[in-house]
Amino acid sequence: MGAAPPKVRPESGSFRRDAPSVQFERAADLMGLDPDIRRILGSAASESIFHFPVKMDDGHVEIFTGYRVQHNNVLGPYKGGLRFHPQADLHLFRELAAWMTWKTAIADLPFGGAKGGICMDPADYSVSELERITRRFVYALGDSIGPDHDIPAPDMNTNPQVMAWIMDTYLTMVPPQQRLRSTHVVTGKPIGLGGCVGRDKATGQGVVITIENWARDRGISLKDSSYIVQGFGNVGSWAARLLHPYETRLLAVEDHTGAIHDAAGLDPLALSRWVEDHGGVAGFPGGVAIDHETFLGTQADFFIPAALGGQITEKTAPMLNVQLVVEAANGPTTFEGERILMQREISIIPDILANAGGVIVSYLEWLQSKRSEAWDLEEVEGKLRRKITAAYDRVRDAAQSYGTDWRTAAYVVALSRLESVYKERGIFP
Ligand code: NAD
Repeated sequence: MGAAPPKVRPESGSFRRDAPSVQFERAADLMGLDPDIRRILGSAASESIFHFPVKMDDGHVEIFTGYRVQHNNVLGPYKGGLRFHPQADLHLFRELAAWMTWKTAIADLPFGGAKGGICMDPADYSVSELERITRRFVYALGDSIGPDHDIPAPDMNTNPQVMAWIMDTYLTMVPPQQRLRSTHVVTGKPIGLGGCVGRDKATGQGVVITIENWARDRGISLKDSSYIVQGFGNVGSWAARLLHPYETRLLAVEDHTGAIHDAAGLDPLALSRWVEDHGGVAGFPGGVAIDHETFLGTQADFFIPAALGGQITEKTAPMLNVQLVVEAANGPTTFEGERILMQREISIIPDILANAGGVIVSYLEWLQSKRSEAWDLEEVEGKLRRKITAAYDRVRDAAQSYGTDWRTAAYVVALSRLESVYKERGIFP
């Protein structure tokens, strides 16, 4: 314990707030979703807001606001991350919770969708304050979370250390006989506490597997291809590190500190070490600095946005010089941005498919904690590959049979699964 508090990243991009509901409606229209089920899925099952006091290091008390939105649990326990961010609000968590429902449905996991967190900037607090804030939030959540009811995980600015505090606090709140049966109340735990090997790289790995599948379907060799990445944190840097063995050239990278370029290809391993030591890509000796517009206009085969929502817009989509956008970030493309990408015949692998590797390995962690097992990396990676490839195949096949784009197809896959379960179960009473 006692790890440094997670660093908050500046968030210049904003969410295109109405995008997810329009995406949902578009897919629901196309597949003729039952109107009653459309109404059910069109809103969250529950939305909680908590205001709770925490004593700071100097003795004064601050009031924090925390959220948990539980969108849907017809397929299984609510599942979704906790985000600590100054721009976090109910609206954001509503969108993110619904996205989790679609993502787990596409990946064929026995989970529903949820999301939550605290409106705060963790960089403003000491480690001990952060621990008290986290523990007090878990106390406020009470039994609205639980190992077979609602299972949080890390999201922006939360990490395995925060998950360890959550697990520890939750276990103190349940009767002693239930404690050791409840460690699967969170995923993304440190390995020593029942975390899963390979969870750290899982989202980046899922991104790379979807790119492999996409290239294989088109007879494209990754060896001769090139790409650019926005965001070199967990997801972006792991995607680049895992693409390295394919000899795919990483031509440019941008993060909150700046953008860099090398026509011969940046070394993702050296760049990851640099970012770890220096906090960002700026100043990396293996590349030259470029500006934002030059970064976006870099000619490459694919672009992996792995930073913020709302980055590919009406303004930036015309600048892109790629064939494929692989949405590693949640919600990186606005509606107008997507329309322009489509007009320009740039393909999109949507976020609810491309970044599902994280929740797939969270599911594997949950199963291991539930059964007191610890699988090796080979087993975890094999299961991740099979699950995300099956999800990829479902979305590709739906796009073909409905003659639609991949985002709409991904929603159709999710909504079809949810609809069939509702039809079998019926609506109480
Ligand atoms: P992270 O905090 O580790 O990294 C975020 C990266 O974005 C950093 O490199 C940061 O410098 C960069 N960034 C921030 N502001 C920027 C700006 N204005 N311009 C350019 N770059 C900027 O986060 P992460 O875990 O890698 O998550 C990245 C995205 O992937 C988020 O959208 C997240 O919701 C999504 N995602 C993450 C996971 C996961 O398992 N970590 C799973 C699914 C989706």
